[in-house]
Amino acid sequence: MEISANTQAIAYLVSAVLFIFALKGLTHPSSARRGNYYGMAGMVLAVLATLSGGEVQSYGFIIAGIVAGGFIGAVLASRVAMTDMPQLVAALHSFVGMAAVLVAIGTFINRAASDTLNAVLMGELSAGIVIGAITFTGSVVAFGKLQGLISGQPVRFTGQHTLNALIAIATVLLAVHFALTGAIWSLVLMTLLAFILGLTLIIPIGGADMPVIISMLNSYSGWAAAATGFTLGNNLLIIVGALVGFSGAILSFIMCKAMNRSIINVVFGGFGSESGGGESSAGAVAAEKGVKSAAVEDAIYWMEDANRVIIIPGYGMAVAQAQHALKEMMELLEARGVEMKFAIHPVAGRMPGHMNVLLAEADIPYENVLEMDEINSEFPSTDVALVVGANDVVNPAAKEDSSSPIYGMPIIEAGKARQVYFLKRSMRPGYSGVDNLLFYQDNTSLIFGDAKETIEKMVTALKGGGH
Ligand code: NDP
Repeated sequence: MEISANTQAIAYLVSAVLFIFALKGLTHPSSARRGNYYGMAGMVLAVLATLSGGEVQSYGFIIAGIVAGGFIGAVLASRVAMTDMPQLVAALHSFVGMAAVLVAIGTFINRAASDTLNAVLMGELSAGIVIGAITFTGSVVAFGKLQGLISGQPVRFTGQHTLNALIAIATVLLAVHFALTGAIWSLVLMTLLAFILGLTLIIPIGGADMPVIISMLNSYSGWAAAATGFTLGNNLLIIVGALVGFSGAILSFIMCKAMNRSIINVVFGGFGSESGGGESSAGAVAAEKGVKSAAVEDAIYWMEDANRVIIIPGYGMAVAQAQHALKEMMELLEARGVEMKFAIHPVAGRMPGHMNVLLAEADIPYENVLEMDEINSEFPSTDVALVVGANDVVNPAAKEDSSSPIYGMPIIEAGKARQVYFLKRSMRPGYSGVDNLLFYQDNTSLIFGDAKETIEKMVTALKGGGH
């Protein structure tokens, strides 16, 4: 059934409103599920309205694309582990980038054939190609870094910024030339340079700056989609692209602020350093370095009699999938009158909101889960800080060591609690590769082992009456 242009425009408007409600819903864990439903409804409506519009030439290709893409997407989504989500997101951004490039080139070929090209359209095409190509190669590099296919550390060389600036200027000049003349050579050269720029822009970024880069690339993918919307004259794509573009940009700013980094530094800088030590004989390495290791019973001894225990989850909690065991331990300690809280750092884990999602999955009440700024003042009056698979986010080097690559990032002040227990498997550092100064503090002990197994031992000890 073919719908009129007016009906389609109304359907697009309703979709756009649903997408805005979706974003609103996603601002809080308690409304996030509802937000996702709004988003899904908006997307179904948008796809149906587009497929029922007059401009569809052949359903065959569309169905083939939906079947092939849907199959690959379903397989990927069902297999991906929660800890690999950032890579998946990076890969998906690269598809958006490539789609923008291909749609723009396809539109150019079509319009050239029907002789309906004009400077405005060519400008839009150029924008789509440039942003799309940068998003594509940038996201491929980010994927490679996060997946460990290429070094996650920053790759830097002299003259890097100058080189990037020259490529950027040349790309813009070629885009203007193409818009004005339609010369194929400028289109080809501009596309190639934009692909290279995506690569050279992301290669020097690494370590703890990766989360910001993922949300920046998210933002770029939105702008690429918006540019495609202009080329195709599709208002909904423009709106959705702008929503993604702005929300990605706002998230990047929020994350930079949380990490006390300037966005300019992140985009053009690069930080992260030494690689970690080995996993073998963690206890021996610890002793050699003057770090205390402790047994499960020690931590239980302190926690059972505590007034307040704060748990600081990090990436290792996600790897170990320790959230359900943590919930059980939380309930056992609460039954003994201990006040239990969770402290969440804005970049804990490997994606924004990573910890919140896992804790929500284990039905840990939202009121027990506090953001870094809300909870930091409570550590001096806390008996035990239990650091579960977190590392960078509690590292005092960020405050005390001006030569440290993470210097300036605000941290969760776990070190101010009376006792600090780290649950981790080895002396290896966290994502940024920086040694953790908190390990060497007098009130800190490390309990080596997989976080889930350790918490399960704690649960057993608590059930058995403790020490
Ligand atoms: P970190 O990466 O600093 O540390 C994680 C710790 O978990 C490691 O020390 C590791 O030690 C331990 N670990 C891993 N597996 C297990 C396990 N099975 N059981 C117990 N411990 C385990 O994590 P944080 O959450 O503290 O910090 C996040 C870092 O990731 C920041 O540097 C952030 O910038 C970066 N990042 C964040 C993103 C985001 O959007 N949130 C995206 C990309 C990067 P060991 O190997 O010894 O067990």
